[in-house]
Amino acid sequence: MSLTRESGLTKLKAMKAVFITFMNVAIATCAFGQVEQKQPNIIFIMSDDHAEQAISAYGHPISKVAPTPNIDRIAKDGAIFMNNYCSNSICGPSRAAILTGKHSHKNGFMKNGNKGFDGTQQTLPKILRANGYQTAVIGKWHLLSRPTGFDYWSVLNDQGDYYNPYFITGQDTTRHMGYVTDLITDFTKQWMKDRDQSKPFFLMMHHKAPHRNWVPAERHYRLYEDAKFPVPANYWDDYKGRFAAGKQEMNIYRDMYEGHDLKMVTGVDSDSLLFDPWPHAFMGTMTEPERERFFEAYRDRNNDFYSIPRSEREVAEWKYQRYLQDYTATVKSVDESVGEILDYLKASGLDKNTIVVYTTDQGFYLGEHGWFDKRFMYEESFGMPLLMSYPGHIKPGTKVTGLTQNIDFAPTFLDICGIDIPLDIQGMSFKSLVEDGKTPNNWRQSLYYHYYEFPGFHSVRAHYGVKMERYKLMYFYKDDRWELYDLKEDPSEMHNIYAKSGTDKITRDLKKELVRLQDQYDVNEEYRK
Ligand code: CA
Repeated sequence: MSLTRESGLTKLKAMKAVFITFMNVAIATCAFGQVEQKQPNIIFIMSDDHAEQAISAYGHPISKVAPTPNIDRIAKDGAIFMNNYCSNSICGPSRAAILTGKHSHKNGFMKNGNKGFDGTQQTLPKILRANGYQTAVIGKWHLLSRPTGFDYWSVLNDQGDYYNPYFITGQDTTRHMGYVTDLITDFTKQWMKDRDQSKPFFLMMHHKAPHRNWVPAERHYRLYEDAKFPVPANYWDDYKGRFAAGKQEMNIYRDMYEGHDLKMVTGVDSDSLLFDPWPHAFMGTMTEPERERFFEAYRDRNNDFYSIPRSEREVAEWKYQRYLQDYTATVKSVDESVGEILDYLKASGLDKNTIVVYTTDQGFYLGEHGWFDKRFMYEESFGMPLLMSYPGHIKPGTKVTGLTQNIDFAPTFLDICGIDIPLDIQGMSFKSLVEDGKTPNNWRQSLYYHYYEFPGFHSVRAHYGVKMERYKLMYFYKDDRWELYDLKEDPSEMHNIYAKSGTDKITRDLKKELVRLQDQYDVNEEYRK
């Protein structure tokens, strides 16, 4: 078949474009001194509510009792981010910020209670897919609407169940027997085996664990039963000078559900849980033999609890230990999953050209201020663990100290893959921070944060704020209350120094910076009251 002159020219132009793209990629990768001509694969591993305090690469005393040797391998082979933060500390909104590279007011998913993520908008997987990537998401989605921009998806129904959960795909909804973390790992490995080998891939493996209500895999029920976790110094916080902290409903010893969350039963040798508001979930999804083995595994400890009278304070500390034992046992399976994935990448030779990211959707309280859960702009929930390896590009043992945020993930991946970053993306590429191991002089000095969900679960007042290296200013706008912290002098944020003498200048500067950020991120009047 002969070509017309015009179609011949079009074909020539197309070939030229392909050649230029190839050269750009080759030049971009050669700049690192590599003879690598392929775009990297990206495996983005995200768990749910995994606190930095429970990742041993971060060095917190809690993680010394329950280490995460496999997750730590990513930091050892690559980089650990010391100052990475979310933009809105709650599941759905953080996921939407990661997918879009935009703050909540721009991507439209501001609260978990929202109608559903608008999947028609521009997202990271869509851009990668348009640039030749094969894309997939497996595990927790939690954005209510169906995933878009993925060649393959298999996601948990809403929060998903720890035991025998339902997975929704483009074709059907199927219940799979097994423990959720193990199933997600198996499906992820299977997808890597079955994928189109001719394309680079972007794969999001999203674990449910260690989300509430912290049900470990059977093999880990008793893993930390004798462990004693260090009780945070501010476990008995009285919230003095901090209005919103005193109004929350996320206190371990007051607000946790004793049956559902703490697996406490009605008495000696009981096989009935104390308060469980969602009996169809948790125990409801286990088979009868699984339920029996569950009660058996907790029996000695529950009997021990009832064997001696305990003061209110002793009960509160017992609850802290039970919470941490289950939380870290749940983390254990995530750590094993990461180990399995890293081993698979190595055995298949994919490790050489694959970026591995480990993160979680936001930080979490492990007893600090007496709390569990997240939402606040205080460090433990605002902070977001981030580890990343890329052989030949990120030096082993790199520590990134610059201020980074979840809206930066999308532009960074595009940048590393040599794809243009759309101008409307709000985050910044941290490629140079992680590859050079130092923060450029013109890097950002502040971060913007906004939590919207009030009234809502756990009663955390809506607020926005600005964080700089040393100071943090928060505004609880529905209550017209300000808080100011000096993180150098008061890293646990126990002393609100707003309006205290000597803070006039820093307060003025921070308020100015807050307005500058709101302007930069195009926050409209409705959201800056
Ligand atoms: Ca979460």
